[in-house]
Amino acid sequence: TAAAVTLSACSSERGTGTSAAPGASGAASNTLIGIAMPTKSLERWNRDGANLEALLKAAGYKTSLQYADNKQDQQNNQIQNMLNDGAKVLVIASIDGTALGPVLAQAAKQGVKVVAYDRLINGSENVDYYATFDNYKVGQLQGQFILDNADSFKGPDGKVIFEPFAGSPDDNNAKFFFSGAWDKVSPKVASGDFVVPSGKAPASNNDWQTIGILNWDSAKAQAEMENRLNSFYGGGKRVTVVLSPNDSLALGIEQALDGAGYKVGTDWPLITGQDADLANVKAMLQGKQSMSVWKDTRKLGEQVAKMVDQIAKGETVSVNDTKSYDNGKKVVPTYLVEPQVVTKDTVKSALVDSGFYKASDLGI
Ligand code: BGC
Repeated sequence: TAAAVTLSACSSERGTGTSAAPGASGAASNTLIGIAMPTKSLERWNRDGANLEALLKAAGYKTSLQYADNKQDQQNNQIQNMLNDGAKVLVIASIDGTALGPVLAQAAKQGVKVVAYDRLINGSENVDYYATFDNYKVGQLQGQFILDNADSFKGPDGKVIFEPFAGSPDDNNAKFFFSGAWDKVSPKVASGDFVVPSGKAPASNNDWQTIGILNWDSAKAQAEMENRLNSFYGGGKRVTVVLSPNDSLALGIEQALDGAGYKVGTDWPLITGQDADLANVKAMLQGKQSMSVWKDTRKLGEQVAKMVDQIAKGETVSVNDTKSYDNGKKVVPTYLVEPQVVTKDTVKSALVDSGFYKASDLGI
């Protein structure tokens, strides 16, 4: 197999002087793994990259970790350089998951295996594995949280005043997040229990891109929320529930609410999120964000490091889903990690006790 060829090619490079970590296997020694991450501007990717790099180094691999400033062209150049440098496996968290075809074709030609990290890469046969959190479940957890708490967030007429947001239109994950949430919440919109003053309630799951915020940009989410509040919330009308697919958007939405004079303890709405980013965990502790879907990126990193090692050794690669992630060319064998809801009340037990954050990081 290609993996076996890759492996023997690497073993022959052993003894060229690069010191491998103690316990490193022959497969790991001197083998370069390329790690392509989307951007440094969002907290989670810094954690993801550093964590995966550390795990692979500890297993004896060499790594090239690159961040691409949210530009797919830049990431493609970085991947090309990794291939030129002799990378044997590529781990890629893409930006625009439809625009990697040529560089992945080159990887396949060189017998290099590709693991899509967190985000599926679409429209290419040359994606060997995918590892992610259960993205649909992330949305379901957000939607269910809204349903479970809606009774405490009703406007004067007994209706929930609701504004939904979706993630970056070019990110394949965003549609799963939205579908998961919308499958829970849309019946309430249809029945009229939830009203959407802005009218920005997609007619179906497939229309999620109409409310997508490009690049998961906090400032764009803030501008969109300000726009909705200014245009549709005259006469003292107050929004009571906001579906935000992740923490970077939640931050922008929270800024807009601050600016519009909403106050915690009186009219601050329910707001969802995802990633348990530091600023958002602080916001949860202040009552400005109701929940975040925590994805323990250490677990994803461990799984991906294991998959890379299995690939390099020519072993069977562990996956737990061979049905759900069709990238338009093939169903990509996937390993799904479980996400989990965190609220103000579970910040300590979930995030601090597990060592994800120090109590001092959170000021608690
Ligand atoms: C990730 C989320 C993240 C978002 C923005 C998504 O692809 O799955 O965890 O919040 O990108 O970086």
